[in-house]
Amino acid sequence: MKIAILSGKGGTGKTTLATNLFKTKNQGILIDVDVEEPNSHLFLKPLILDRITIKKGYPVVDAAACTLCGACGDFCRYNAILPTKKKVLVYPELCHDCGGCQLVCPTNAIHYDKRTIGNVFSGKTESGLSVAYGDLLVGEVSGVHIIEHLREMTDQEPLVFIDSPPGTACSTVAAVEGVDYAIIAAEPTPFGVSDMKLVVEMLSGFSIPMGVVINKAGLGDQEIYEYCKEENLTILAEIPFSKAYAKSYASGKMLCDDFPEFRENMEEILDQIIKD
Ligand code: SF4
Ligand code: SF4
Repeated sequence: MKIAILSGKGGTGKTTLATNLFKTKNQGILIDVDVEEPNSHLFLKPLILDRITIKKGYPVVDAAACTLCGACGDFCRYNAILPTKKKVLVYPELCHDCGGCQLVCPTNAIHYDKRTIGNVFSGKTESGLSVAYGDLLVGEVSGVHIIEHLREMTDQEPLVFIDSPPGTACSTVAAVEGVDYAIIAAEPTPFGVSDMKLVVEMLSGFSIPMGVVINKAGLGDQEIYEYCKEENLTILAEIPFSKAYAKSYASGKMLCDDFPEFRENMEEILDQIIKD
């Protein structure tokens, strides 16, 4: 079973939820695919046993063979290759490595080279749980290749927790595609609800079953409850705002270790979504 944990925006407790659900279940593997800001390893503290460099292709144009016909630029929807009057400009960081420009080039003037865009680290926690996370290099715009690598690594795993990127960009789509269940971490504030709506729409588009965990419950208003009712969304748990939780989190601790009632919350969520 693949369970994605996501949120409409950063800072809503997504990583806390992912890591604590994983540690409470004490099985499977956790992958942190929030590659622009991976945080799960800071809490789970795995011993890193392997590191893989992730590379991505980009087009290189042979000026001698190029007739400046413009076909490659017309094809590329990311503006990563731009034929001008004198030469073809290539912006490797915008390239999604789709291979299309090479296919449409009538003179075979394009070949591909590879460059490093980030890393994948994997290891084990003190208690033997498997953890892997991706790290996108600063300045790179798309971590989808790294996310796909992490997803492929865990294709055959029976239980996978996925700490997904926040929002609804391409990287989040890559993280949640094909998962069995999605848990949305949300705060009961007007901004929290509006960000969450976009996530719900995206997940509905993929027909992914989902449930909501309301974090910092009691701090906001009733809008989130009304929205969940309207959309028939299951509220899996409500985690109250607690200074003790915030202090424990800030010091890099796992809440399920320090607070029995928090662990019970995690167990209830797992009971609702995982049928043994
Ligand atoms: S490989 Fe695809 S994304 Fe990259 S420049 Fe060519 S057409 Fe654009
Ligand atoms: S499609 Fe090929 S020939 Fe045409 S502009 Fe691009 S690189 Fe040059």
